[in-house]
Amino acid sequence: MQQSLQRETSESLDNTPHPSVRYCADKVNAKYSHGRPEPELVPSRYALKVGAIDVMVVSDGVLSLPGAMLGHNVDPAVRAAWLEDMFLPPDVLEWALNVVLVRSGGRTILIDAGMGMEFPDLPRSGRLIQRLEAAGIDLASVTDVVLTHLHMDHCGGLLVDGVRDRLRKDLRVHLAAAEAKFWESPDFSRVSMPPGFPDALRRTGKRFLKEYQSQLRPFENEYEVAPGVLIQCTGGHTPGHSVVRLASGGDRLTFAGDAVFQVGFEHPDWYNGFEHDPEEAARVRVRLLRELAANRESLVATHLSFPSVCHVALDGDVFRWVPGPWEY
Ligand SMILES: [Zn+2]
Repeated sequence: MQQSLQRETSESLDNTPHPSVRYCADKVNAKYSHGRPEPELVPSRYALKVGAIDVMVVSDGVLSLPGAMLGHNVDPAVRAAWLEDMFLPPDVLEWALNVVLVRSGGRTILIDAGMGMEFPDLPRSGRLIQRLEAAGIDLASVTDVVLTHLHMDHCGGLLVDGVRDRLRKDLRVHLAAAEAKFWESPDFSRVSMPPGFPDALRRTGKRFLKEYQSQLRPFENEYEVAPGVLIQCTGGHTPGHSVVRLASGGDRLTFAGDAVFQVGFEHPDWYNGFEHDPEEAARVRVRLLRELAANRESLVATHLSFPSVCHVALDGDVFRWVPGPWEY
């Protein structure tokens, strides 16, 4: 009885009709009737400094996903008008998938790990390991992994065959304690996802916890991984969702994970389909964007267009996305 009740409450209550991810991929591919450019001719990494901290944003590729997931609580006509205003396609768009590598105080820290091979219908993601190698980064040099949360597009890269064996035995994997707890019995009642996603997410989250159990370093509210590299649990998107705050020599940058999506500047109250507690996720988003607008620090987020380095401005009651200049 308990079991069946749990199963029922974890089914999504959302009735937004999302197409399958295969349909999304086909739709996006149809644009490229003359083929795409070779992926490695396109920049896939961007290095910058935050004071003395080395930062590199690496693209894991893109996810072809339904546009409705950007605001599933919104009138479809309003959403369609926003997409049109942003020069985005009406139904399916490619979401960036950014990962960050940080060096500080002798530690090399990988923040999130991309999609890996966890969802075969998203074949244009999962390039992190190849791109780290192309950047001359040896997996064995990574001392710490920080996971903003356990969705498969953030931890899947660590589940690719052979990756764990190439990582150090003394690797520390930092994750909010609330996140580890959540995936024991995750609630999907408030999400809005394409078919197949909830099952794949459940499977990946549980598998990750099992495979990396001995290396996990759960933290409660916040934890300083290295000098000027602070992880803070925000909750919202998932109960243990976390952001990473970098600070050195008066310079600051926040990696917001999935607290901020492109639509979140102009419409911070639109619910993203991946949010397990959308009201709380919106509160977290507004609090964070207000803070970043006030202290003028840089922002990088997982699903903002690569390389994603930007600023946040206040614009009346909402926010404005101010992309940073390309400095090379
Ligand atoms: Zn994500």
